[in-house]
Amino acid sequence: MPVGKERYYYKAVRRASAAVNSGLELKAVLATIVRGTARAMNAGASLVLLDATKKKLIHSASWGLPQSYLRKGIMDADRSLTEVPTGQPVAILDVAQDSRVQYPDLARKAGIVSMLGVPLTIGATVAGSMRVYTRQTVEFSNQDINFVTAMANLAAVAINNDALRQQKTPAEPGGDLSEAGTAPLRQARSASFAHPSEEEFAQILDFYNIEWAYEPQSFPLAWEGERVTEMFTPDFYLPGLELYVELTTMKQSLVTEKNHKLRCLRELYPEINITLLYKKDFDRLLAKFGYGPLAQERGQGVGEILHSSAEIQRRVREMAKKLSKDYANRRPVMIGVLRGVFCFMADLIRQMTIPLDVDFMAISYYGGEDSTIVKITKDIDINVDGRLVILVEDIVDTGFTLNFVINHLKAKGVAELVVCTLLDKRTRRIIDIPLDYVGFKVPDEFVIGYGLDYREEYRNLPFISLLSKPSPLKIRRGKR
Ligand code: 5GP
Repeated sequence: MPVGKERYYYKAVRRASAAVNSGLELKAVLATIVRGTARAMNAGASLVLLDATKKKLIHSASWGLPQSYLRKGIMDADRSLTEVPTGQPVAILDVAQDSRVQYPDLARKAGIVSMLGVPLTIGATVAGSMRVYTRQTVEFSNQDINFVTAMANLAAVAINNDALRQQKTPAEPGGDLSEAGTAPLRQARSASFAHPSEEEFAQILDFYNIEWAYEPQSFPLAWEGERVTEMFTPDFYLPGLELYVELTTMKQSLVTEKNHKLRCLRELYPEINITLLYKKDFDRLLAKFGYGPLAQERGQGVGEILHSSAEIQRRVREMAKKLSKDYANRRPVMIGVLRGVFCFMADLIRQMTIPLDVDFMAISYYGGEDSTIVKITKDIDINVDGRLVILVEDIVDTGFTLNFVINHLKAKGVAELVVCTLLDKRTRRIIDIPLDYVGFKVPDEFVIGYGLDYREEYRNLPFISLLSKPSPLKIRRGKR
């Protein structure tokens, strides 16, 4: 019969293994494992997992730690304890004196003195860490480290089981860990959204294959002594883009307060990249896909002309000349994203004076027949492995399409990729991808012509114009 602290360790492992075997939801299983670890060691504990970038750590479950500490900011895997990049346990005797603690002041304020981090390994790959935080100085023994390792292993089994249950690729040695490693992030999907617009936005992200987490992190903005008095929790974090997104689509009365919080956030955490979508931006995003309140407001017909045919031809000639100069002797593959690009592509390549290849691809759009995931309805035929690709776009709006297409082409082994777009609707950007060549900047309005359509009409206009606004309805009085 185990004695002393072994008794607690034994009990914790027994309970944790029962939880792994229980068929409970992953979140509940991880909570049991972390709680058991903390209680057995008379400490705080947390499970941190690498995000999709494999650079940041996110708290996925915790026990016995103050919120002010949990919400301290992003943890960089190579600056926080370093057990994740090295794959070796790290024991810190005094958090105030050790450079491997990323937030020593906040740790001290939370009453933490010693810390232990044990890598959480799935197959042969480190996916995160199990951490223990004590209020007294503790020299962790081999026995302590072995216990936390056993608990971390149980968490790894639970994560892998969950991935298998959802019929995702299990994390095998050398396999892709991103599915299993981000499983707790995916759990957020079952969390209830505060507003339907957030759920809609999550569906759009899913469609464009963009990994996201819902409200994964809060940032303290103001303190009174050691107490946090103001926090900001952005709605979404997109780990692959290292971008937070805040939707202010709820009450307009909250917008001023949100703007204030955002200003504070940017001042206190300048490294954080955050995009704010106002209600108007969100409604326009939906209108782009053909629904939402603004979709009905679009008129029919040609509105104000933004760029005449002569102006377009002049600008296209300039762009072609510059591309020919920049990529002479490189034989680029020009890839256009159909269908809006066909006029621009045809004019552009005919003005280029260097050898080149041309190919096209097409993808389905959100709001179409199947809006669950973007589909490549026509892929490129040319082998682009090791080639220079000039990606040619008609218009870049939110950046979702461009982001998806770039990822798709990069996966094919493109050596260098530059982006050339005729139009740039900058004000609406959500994913900020650098554009190397831009024809014209356009306002935040729906444009048509020169290949660009509205419900398949107007592609054959030789100029670029706004879609006209609907004429106000004339209300006729009926006879009494
Ligand atoms: P993004 O994914 O950047 O939001 O949108 C890119 C695609 O949306 C473009 O390739 C184009 O098909 C469509 N798009 C965006 N803005 C406009 C616009 O003002 N007019 C038209 N006709 N299409 C647009």
